[in-house]
Amino acid sequence: MIFQSSDPEPNYPLVDIYHYLESNPFNVQPGKTVFIDPITEKSLTFGQFLNETKHFAAGLLDSYDFQPKDVLAIFSYNQYDFGVPILGTLCAGGVVTTVNHSYTIDEVVHQLKDSGASYMVTTVDLLPTALEAAKICGIKREHIFLFGGKDEAGHKAYQSVFSKRLAAPVKIDMEDIAYLCYSSGTTGNAHCKSKGVMLTHRNITSNLVQIMSYDAEVIKQKDLVILGFLPLYHIYGLMNCLHISLITGTETVIMPKFDLPSFLQNIEKYRVTNTFIVPPVALALAKHPMVLDHDLSSLRHLYCGAAPLPKDLCVRIEERLGVYCRQGFGMTEGSPLVACLRPDARGPDGSVGPLVAGLKAMVVDPETGKELGVGQAGEWLLKGPNVMKGYLNNIEATKHTIREDGWMHTGDIVYVDEKGNWFVVDRLKELIKYKGFQIPAAELEALLITHPKVLDAAVIPAYDATQATEIPRAYVVIQEGVTKNDELKKEIMEFLAARVAPHKKLRGGVVFTNEIPKSASGKILRKDIVKIDRAPDSSA
Ligand code: AMP
Repeated sequence: MIFQSSDPEPNYPLVDIYHYLESNPFNVQPGKTVFIDPITEKSLTFGQFLNETKHFAAGLLDSYDFQPKDVLAIFSYNQYDFGVPILGTLCAGGVVTTVNHSYTIDEVVHQLKDSGASYMVTTVDLLPTALEAAKICGIKREHIFLFGGKDEAGHKAYQSVFSKRLAAPVKIDMEDIAYLCYSSGTTGNAHCKSKGVMLTHRNITSNLVQIMSYDAEVIKQKDLVILGFLPLYHIYGLMNCLHISLITGTETVIMPKFDLPSFLQNIEKYRVTNTFIVPPVALALAKHPMVLDHDLSSLRHLYCGAAPLPKDLCVRIEERLGVYCRQGFGMTEGSPLVACLRPDARGPDGSVGPLVAGLKAMVVDPETGKELGVGQAGEWLLKGPNVMKGYLNNIEATKHTIREDGWMHTGDIVYVDEKGNWFVVDRLKELIKYKGFQIPAAELEALLITHPKVLDAAVIPAYDATQATEIPRAYVVIQEGVTKNDELKKEIMEFLAARVAPHKKLRGGVVFTNEIPKSASGKILRKDIVKIDRAPDSSA
């Protein structure tokens, strides 16, 4: 059975991202402020933004021998002008890969190498990691530019790349890759390293109109102000707090990173109407006493995604703030938005809402592949213009994820009710999400077994209700003769913490076990461990 939203199929743009932006479908005035830095109060208008992107594109093409399809990496926390080098690169016919700023050198190296990046924009404080990684990957020093507006430490500000001329956007094929966003992937197979999700110009422009079509009534409101704290390197932030803001000309306050006091102060100061959150922020809005010290009456639209939202939080938020929090479901491979509650609908508790228009879905039995019907839980399969092209340099993983007939496995277990509302009930894939950030279990396992005292390891999601998030917990088999005590647990946790980005730390702790359950083919049976872990008499 194939499911679709009852909304009409949107008219998808027939041009690439830059030409679509330039066509200015919402007739945004050049003087309209689009991005604001709440710390320095610097800002960019729509007209300035378009000009600067074209100067950057011309600079790359004229002075740096930049070729179409060259890859530029953005390795930075949020900046109010984050989008300038990004859209500038797209304008020059290039590809952008966005790197998590908290990554270790090894993690950055993996992404730079895999994506084939030959240019980078970073910040002064991230330079030590950036330079070390760039050296290993053979990126030229003079191809490393800075955010912050100043030439520093021997590197040019990206603004110093600007040419005097304005580049005309290069004509691009809709199937060309625009973004390489990294994700651990959707299949249950253990792939240790994250994979480059190839998102084409068609994927992005289609998802933009899919998002804007169900929220058309919201977008029409001319006085909207968005607060953007989501990391812009992740497609959730990149689409909602950068692309949608630009296309619709919506004033967007860009916070460098999330912290609750600044988040609340910014809502109050800028009279923010819309913000995009993740479950731990929903928890704070529902329960934190500090929230009551602020005037949040300007808030009108609250969206939550990236991880499951505990059911009672929406009700609590509405009681406190008078705003209904709409849950949505996205994934990098879906560019990202797949489903979201509509502005006028309250939706049944816990639902991620109906599909976006133009996207088809199936539910299949993960064991047999048999198609299932309404109310039956199985793996979610998707097909539509926002479904990624595949994983870069990884035909095998692409084949496992996208069937020959175009249906993509999400690795999520869901069901749909008779009204077309979707519910996510479980995850088939090995992904763990800490506050919306991806943690690939297999990557941590591969590192854990390099510890000299660890014989075998499995990492599973535990749940921390006090923070409304999953946390990774390691089950480890220790070498014979080694004393198992709290010291050793600490040693293992520190060993891992030194090798991964902070969000991947073993916040769920370490549990000693005698054996890791595995299938006949050697696949770790994580679900069996999760069952043991959640049993009432579990020692974890
Ligand atoms: P990412 O590619 O980092 O956006 O992660 C995508 C994955 O996050 C999905 O495949 C789901 O497992 C999970 N996810 C995203 N949104 C939700 C949601 N609202 N409820 C449950 N899981 C979600």
